[in-house]
Amino acid sequence: MKWKEQLLSLKPYQPGKSIEEVKRQFGLNEIIKLASNENPFGCSPKATAAISQPSTFFALYPDGYATKLRQALAADLNVEPEQLIFGNGSDETIMMLSRALLTPETNTVMATPTFPQYKHNAIIEGAEVREIPLKDGEHDLNAMLKAIDEKTAIVWLCSPNNPTGTYIPADKLREFMLQVPEDVLIVLDEAYCEYTTVNDYHDSIELVKDFPNVIALRTFSKIYGLASLRIGYGIAQRELIQAMEPVREPFNANRFAQEVAIHALNDKAFIENCRQTNQEGLAQYYQFCEEEGLSYYPSQGNFILIDFNVDGDEVFQFLLEQGYIVRSGQALGFPTSVRVTVGSPEQNEGVIKVMKQFIQERASLS
Ligand SMILES: *Cc1c(COP(=O)(O)O)cnc(C)c1O
Repeated sequence: MKWKEQLLSLKPYQPGKSIEEVKRQFGLNEIIKLASNENPFGCSPKATAAISQPSTFFALYPDGYATKLRQALAADLNVEPEQLIFGNGSDETIMMLSRALLTPETNTVMATPTFPQYKHNAIIEGAEVREIPLKDGEHDLNAMLKAIDEKTAIVWLCSPNNPTGTYIPADKLREFMLQVPEDVLIVLDEAYCEYTTVNDYHDSIELVKDFPNVIALRTFSKIYGLASLRIGYGIAQRELIQAMEPVREPFNANRFAQEVAIHALNDKAFIENCRQTNQEGLAQYYQFCEEEGLSYYPSQGNFILIDFNVDGDEVFQFLLEQGYIVRSGQALGFPTSVRVTVGSPEQNEGVIKVMKQFIQERASLS
């Protein structure tokens, strides 16, 4: 068959080990998963309360325009409803943008390491991928600008960046955007924006107002705790949204997600509490790193990348056998690090204890 040639170079997404799998393999009762930046507190109880529904709820197609969620979100963000597009998770929004703009005749610019789906989708579309190495864990905006030429269709920015947790200060971001040609789409992935606490984090609503070539991507998967429902959204000027609408599947945002997301959105206290608790959790990891002399990037997300100066797979495996699933930096472009999702205070304490154990055992071996 005539598969696209570039598919041969791609591996399907490798999900982390499931909790059940790890339990069985190591004979453990309790597994703590700190691997995918999910919310350790789940979602707002108000969101789960919304789920009991009549059976027609399942039988009927969802509202393809996501009208109710669209209105709620537009009011919440203070934008026009036509400035929003919904995706089956941000992952799908990334796919839609790639499908709409990338061809073998174009190129696309992104940082590395960053969220892998930008590159993955670009390869599928046959576009040339221009990866610009992070500088001290941060986007090298000057080098990214230099990489843009007349064939560039999309520039991807991830702030806070996954997997480093670093962010792009607002003034630098704006300065960058001013220099990007107007016919180049700037995708600003802010999957973790609700976790940020710094004063100089950008305001994407303002940016979208000022730049017709910017789309901000957000998700209900992270702080809202709805990863399994698959719902994310883009914010841009209405002309941009209109232009990309044809690539959107008619019923891409499911009925559950549309319903539950409204309730999750309305529970501001839950979100505020998660942001606060996440800050306290990060402080636990910072203290651990300082004590052990490990380098790390200060994070504005709900995860932290810690450099253990040994093969990240080794740290991963050690933690796994003690019931903690994290991500090895090997697959993330930081081979001697692991990325740990900030959990509840107890979960953080637990995984830190095992990480200390790892360091001790290693020291006694050498
Ligand atoms: C988790 C994540 C996403 C994907 O989120 P979904 O809405 O669950 O598809 C997108 N971008 C970044 C940077 C992420 O970390």
